[in-house]
Amino acid sequence: MSSTLLTGIGELVTNDPDQQTGVLGVRRDAALLLDGDRVAWVGDRAVAPVADHQVDVGGRAVLPGFVDSHAHLVFDGDRAEEFAARMAGVPYSAGGIRTTVAATRAADDRRLAANLRWLLAEMHRSGTTTVEVKSGYGLTVADEARSLRLARQVTEETTFLGAHVVPVEWADDPDGYVELVATTMLRAAAPYARWVDVFCERGAFDADAARRVLTAGAAQGLGLRVHAGQLGPGPGVALACELGAASADHCTYLVDADVAALAGSATVATLLPGAEFSTGSRYPDARRLLDAGVCVALATDCNPGTSYTTSMPFIIALAVREMRMTVAEAVWAATAGGARALRRDDIGVLRPGSRADVLVLDAPSYLHLAYRPGVAQTRAVWQSGRRLDLSVG
Ligand SMILES: [Zn+2]
Repeated sequence: MSSTLLTGIGELVTNDPDQQTGVLGVRRDAALLLDGDRVAWVGDRAVAPVADHQVDVGGRAVLPGFVDSHAHLVFDGDRAEEFAARMAGVPYSAGGIRTTVAATRAADDRRLAANLRWLLAEMHRSGTTTVEVKSGYGLTVADEARSLRLARQVTEETTFLGAHVVPVEWADDPDGYVELVATTMLRAAAPYARWVDVFCERGAFDADAARRVLTAGAAQGLGLRVHAGQLGPGPGVALACELGAASADHCTYLVDADVAALAGSATVATLLPGAEFSTGSRYPDARRLLDAGVCVALATDCNPGTSYTTSMPFIIALAVREMRMTVAEAVWAATAGGARALRRDDIGVLRPGSRADVLVLDAPSYLHLAYRPGVAQTRAVWQSGRRLDLSVG
């Protein structure tokens, strides 16, 4: 692989604390050298080294590619009618997931893989270069393993979410389903998964069930993530912190003890305002978490029921407009924060040695990500040093 010098960078967001220029480590009039799949050099464009290829970005802003650390992309069908009904006043309950489970089980591998790649291409077009993909719409041993096998073909960040909802055939024996998830299903899923996750919520899985699944996953060598506090306060955040989970996701309803537990732990609070937007619910209070010293990430929660968006710029705009985050905080949370939620230090940052995941915005500043909501502003994307084809279809 050859080297490429990006030059003419008006504003370079590095997220490198060594730059000592605020939370985003911003440099002006910069250049960036990509060599193979890595960043090789960051500095002043006047003293940039020679490379095989040179791309002048014409004064535009350059950022690390977005790290979307929470997405459910292996499914079939959509739930547009349910969305429309909800917007007309029908409340959301966790049960809608079962509609997607039925469609997903009925779909063949090719169909699921095609849907997954279509969503992934959409993500690339809005600047995402790393995505975490969960299972959770199969909910049988074979269908969960299949979902993760397909997800593994597009990302190394795969998450086993057998404990997403109790499927209808287990409605009379939810404890039996939890045992299945924590034993046979987990063993079938583990070869394709890096993480295990549980939807710890009223109407889904309680603290005991969540603990059973998470500890069984940890024993198989999987890292932990928890869906917590989306629909109401519950035990999920405390459990995530206690068990050393990488991330507690949603965090919309928190008691003071949850905020203190997050602040005193390495567990990231991953906020998913696309879900609140699409369910007409109140947004999480990012300011409360940031002021308490909690590490905050932003992600799409892309799924066909409650947040059918792949756009990290849309999430950033929501976080700034509705959640009292500054633009810089939101951009950090969508890049370095996502990396932290995946326990990665090679992505979400542009410094020598990091992965060459680069977003060139069609704007002079990262501020435009929130300032121009709903506008496509991706000029170019490199993923692991490879320039992506962003054309549609
Ligand atoms: Zn989710």
